[in-house]
Amino acid sequence: MNQQQHDRLRSQFPALAQEVNGHPLVYLDNAATTQKPQAVLDAINHYYRADNANVHRAAHALSDRATRAFEDARETVARFINAPRSHEVIWTRGTTEAINLVAQSWGVSELRAGDEVVLSTLEHHANIVPWQLVAQRTGAVIRVIPLDERGNLDMAAYLAMLGPRTRLVSVAHVSNALGTVNPVEQIVAAAKAVGAMTLIDGAQAVVHLEVDVQAIGCDFYAFSGHKLYGPTGIGVLWGRTALLERMPPWQAGGEMIDRVSFSGTTFNSLPFKFEAGTPHIAGAIGLAAAIDFVMEQDRGLLASYEAVLTDYLVAGLRQVPGLHLVGEPRQRAGAVSFLLADIHPQDAATLLDMQGIALRVGHHCAMPLMESLGIGGTMRASLACYNNRDDVDALLAALHKLSDFF
Ligand code: PMP
Repeated sequence: MNQQQHDRLRSQFPALAQEVNGHPLVYLDNAATTQKPQAVLDAINHYYRADNANVHRAAHALSDRATRAFEDARETVARFINAPRSHEVIWTRGTTEAINLVAQSWGVSELRAGDEVVLSTLEHHANIVPWQLVAQRTGAVIRVIPLDERGNLDMAAYLAMLGPRTRLVSVAHVSNALGTVNPVEQIVAAAKAVGAMTLIDGAQAVVHLEVDVQAIGCDFYAFSGHKLYGPTGIGVLWGRTALLERMPPWQAGGEMIDRVSFSGTTFNSLPFKFEAGTPHIAGAIGLAAAIDFVMEQDRGLLASYEAVLTDYLVAGLRQVPGLHLVGEPRQRAGAVSFLLADIHPQDAATLLDMQGIALRVGHHCAMPLMESLGIGGTMRASLACYNNRDDVDALLAALHKLSDFF
């Protein structure tokens, strides 16, 4: 991608064109949430200005338009992840709610004492705690795939862990803390071979990789809109029809029912069985606009642009005296974690913020990972498609200054 093309892409994100503390904003906290392109802002604005109505109760024109846009958004998501059927796309508040849905519905109804749920050391808390709650209720046991010293999953240990008791393997596609891209096809194939279900947490993946749920072969795939240039409060659970049909509803109310009487209630068909209450209509429409934005790009070109910029960042970080990279995975997307000599990450982040540089410090909602690394947290720079060499250079210059100063 040439400079002109990239400048054009970047200029679509109005939030980037601001100063923070007297410096141009350098936004490197994309693994936490991404900025939004104008097309997403316009789609949300248009919905509220022109089409605002409740969906699926179409007795008037606005409701008709809102319903159409909302259901078109579902189709857009299905195309984006190559889901075979759009009714397999369930709207949720985000990845967290999507995983909780599977845990509370499939997990509570299917897991028995002694059944095993396999997670990995690098999971976000959103893919740990829901399973702990289910394990407490059902007596299921959580097994944890260890990492090698570079931050890759130890695949030999994983394969050795699988057996007749394995009921579910639930792992991140991409680590939010280390940037590790996990070999999900291989992980899923091995799980399938022992008859286990698979859930992939795609929160960090969909923005960097072209995700095809059929090629991965998983049973469930979860992601959040806001990490994909879309709004907060909207996300997706994709699941296989046959599985979703067997699963009981997990939240109850309007929309998810077929008939209600005090002698009993029957439930709506997919996807509505899992969508109780008025959904985040504007969120779904905004997410579809974000996906359209992504799909309009040459994704191969974007991926290679991001890979080159990530390499440039990693190479530059290696040159900062006293800087130590945390995790050097075989394949990386998005996030780079590091520590700088004895400087506390929080102090460093405050000094960087004074120069308009936004990144994240702490445990990144992956406390078990930090514990396994023997550290309390890291500094994390995470890239998105709109970042450029100027952003990386600003961070590197500030880190050199910090390193000299301390
Ligand atoms: N999993 C991973 C890998 C994540 O990075 C995140 C967000 N940091 C989540 C799950 C949770 O996503 P959300 O807060 O949008 O539900």
